[in-house]
Amino acid sequence: MTEPTTAQLKPMPDDWQRALAVVAHPDDLEYGCSAAIAAWTDAGREVAYVLATRGEAGIDTLEPAQCGPLREREQRASAAVVGVSVVEFLDHRDGVIEYGTALRRDIAAAIRRHRPELVITLNHRDTWGGVDWNTPDHVAVGRATLDAAGDAGNRWIFPELTEQGLEPWNGVRWVAVAGSNTPTHAVDATPGMERAVRSLLEHRTYIEALTEEDPESYVRGFLTGYAKSTGERFGGRPAVAFELFGR
Ligand SMILES: [Zn+2]
Repeated sequence: MTEPTTAQLKPMPDDWQRALAVVAHPDDLEYGCSAAIAAWTDAGREVAYVLATRGEAGIDTLEPAQCGPLREREQRASAAVVGVSVVEFLDHRDGVIEYGTALRRDIAAAIRRHRPELVITLNHRDTWGGVDWNTPDHVAVGRATLDAAGDAGNRWIFPELTEQGLEPWNGVRWVAVAGSNTPTHAVDATPGMERAVRSLLEHRTYIEALTEEDPESYVRGFLTGYAKSTGERFGGRPAVAFELFGR
């Protein structure tokens, strides 16, 4: 495992037009990443979201059949706050997403549909750092997304996609992993922070089930605290960090 360092984070590349974010659950992007997405859409860039599940296993007091549609609505509202109007669901089962060719194929298909230069995903490693264990869904989706960036460009890996009219897309230049314990790059979180707070607040049912705290103070405290600590490695500016894998 790579040890965390205190080296300064580099600014994220900005010579791109289309990004696709691929994560496991509703709220995965809002827990730390959406201030960057707000800044990008402000600059006229297109960002689309693809979620492997509808997060239907995320609330103990709600049956999956009720929870899934509710979390889908919350996710769409949350995306709209940061300028994202395209939100798709791959309908893998929440909590038991399997890393494998079916997942890689679904993500490769999404990459071919959207033709992004930048792909964003969430921490694919076993832990968030130290002994803070990650969930199997994040590990599976993060890893499959890193792999699918290559799969999307190869005509012969999933030939059935080409038969469905999805031509290879070999234009992904980077995969940016949010929530990594070994980040390399960052985006200034200040311009997008208020919308990031409102965006996470749209997951209200989830947050109310999670904490006794007032939702807004919980969300604001979490996001500003996280951005501030990341900013210690970004010239003191609150920041959203990514581990950037070039291709
Ligand atoms: Zn998640």
